[in-house]
Amino acid sequence: AVVACGVRKSYGIHEVLKGVDLTVDYGKVCSILGPSGSGKSTFLRCMNHLERLNGGILQVGGAMVGYRQHNGKLYEMRKSEVARQRADIGMVFQSFNLFPHMTVLQNIIEAPVNVRRIPKREAVGYAMELLSKVGLSAKAQAYPRTLSGGQQQRVAIARALAMKPKLMLFDEPTSALDPELVGEVLSVMRALAADGMTMIVVTHELGFAREVCDKVVFMDGGVVVEEGSPEELFNNTRTARAKSFLGKVL
Ligand code: ATP
Ligand code: MG
Repeated sequence: AVVACGVRKSYGIHEVLKGVDLTVDYGKVCSILGPSGSGKSTFLRCMNHLERLNGGILQVGGAMVGYRQHNGKLYEMRKSEVARQRADIGMVFQSFNLFPHMTVLQNIIEAPVNVRRIPKREAVGYAMELLSKVGLSAKAQAYPRTLSGGQQQRVAIARALAMKPKLMLFDEPTSALDPELVGEVLSVMRALAADGMTMIVVTHELGFAREVCDKVVFMDGGVVVEEGSPEELFNNTRTARAKSFLGKVL
């Protein structure tokens, strides 16, 4: 499982995460909703230790993220350990972040070859399999700038999957896309969910949250205000804050 327990994060005197608690079971999909500034991106960044915590712990599959315990004390991991851990956690951002000077195929095999030390032939074979999964076999030799936003985002997903991650984090993966391109990215994510990938997805796509997610979490002011099944969160909203938010975005 993926577990957050009392996670705190401050920037200077500004406390952004004020004790986030969350559990996502292996193979489940959780979406995080919440107003701008509520700490959603910060939480995802903490999940793969792009940020140091000021309190609490995060665990993925029983292992603490970014820290190690020794004689009852927590120590931050060395950079190489963090990198090894991060290789198991795929992250997809709003702005696709592909390497512009590399072809689609080069983008996808870069980390498997250089971080995981997988033989190039094997990495290429798996990359082509993934490209076929995201419907982009024909674009292997194309450069990112020649692709639509939806295509670039599908490549970004394939690139993350190439590392065979245990967990996939998505931060508003469709927010930068033209409306007609949103569907192709969501359908790739749907297929991934159906394949049993553990996923945490920050999104404003309530249809996706309702149909695909096992759990929906509403964050506000740096804490989880409400969580439940899509049915509970959307049809039996308990808190006034979540009600008001959903009223605005629905
Ligand atoms: P959005 O829906 O707009 O993406 P969010 O829920 O993802 O919002 P965060 O990006 O996590 O919110 O930001 C939460 C708060 O933390 C904001 O007030 C933001 O200004 C602040 N913050 C985020 N990153 C930093 C940083 N590196 N330094 C200082 N403050 C930051
Ligand atoms: Mg954000």
